[in-house]
Amino acid sequence: MILSFIPKFPTLNFKPTRGIYAYILMFILQGGSLRGEFVDATPFRDAVKKTRCKEDSKSSLLVDDLGSMLKQKGFNHYGTETLYSGYLGVELKCEIFMGPVYYQRLRHMVSDKFQVRSTGMVDQVTRQPIKGRRRGGGIRFGEMERDSLLAHGASYLLHDRLHTSSDHHIADVCSLCGSLLTSSVLNVQQKKLIREIGNLPPGRTPKKVTCDSCKTSKGMETVAMPYVFRYLAAELASMNIKLTLQLSNSGEGIDSEGV
Ligand SMILES: [Zn+2]
Repeated sequence: MILSFIPKFPTLNFKPTRGIYAYILMFILQGGSLRGEFVDATPFRDAVKKTRCKEDSKSSLLVDDLGSMLKQKGFNHYGTETLYSGYLGVELKCEIFMGPVYYQRLRHMVSDKFQVRSTGMVDQVTRQPIKGRRRGGGIRFGEMERDSLLAHGASYLLHDRLHTSSDHHIADVCSLCGSLLTSSVLNVQQKKLIREIGNLPPGRTPKKVTCDSCKTSKGMETVAMPYVFRYLAAELASMNIKLTLQLSNSGEGIDSEGV
């Protein structure tokens, strides 16, 4: 708290972000408020008046007009005041330009805006987090955000956000036909029963999934991918378009190819 010699309590150090000139003008216009008069607060009024009436050289400066008004009420001509420290009671070395100011509080509050999520509801179709602050959804990480992370070289973060923490899915892909959609789960119990009835020695535990198209489970591989990619393959299949994956261990070959 800084105290003025004249009983007056400045409550805040005002930091305007826009309309700077108009606010400064309003400080000087406290002369008008002291006299109970309406004062023209148009910014650059003086400059406009000068350009319009070039011949009228007698036109006084705006600061002189307002300064004399302040002086009549015992204030400094330029609107500055000597202030005293609220802690020590000593006079501040510099004079402070101060005055009354009218301002409006911004009605946007952080408590109404903040959005945070760790885990929560997911969309049933895409298995990605749902949207909407009210429902505890996530914030959309769109194409522009993706470009931003790529530009920063933060590709692992990109993978974490868009895959690991989103719709991570392990799909069974047939490496023989490259199909993502033809896998089906084998009934292992039934196979065991058939072997026991036929007095056959217990064989190697068969793979749990098989390819319905190739009628074998030999080429079945597990591939981690976003679930929406599987959904895309299903959507394309509904339009009679086959999506074929070409699997390779080294990662050097072509991983996927739409056919
Ligand atoms: Zn197959």
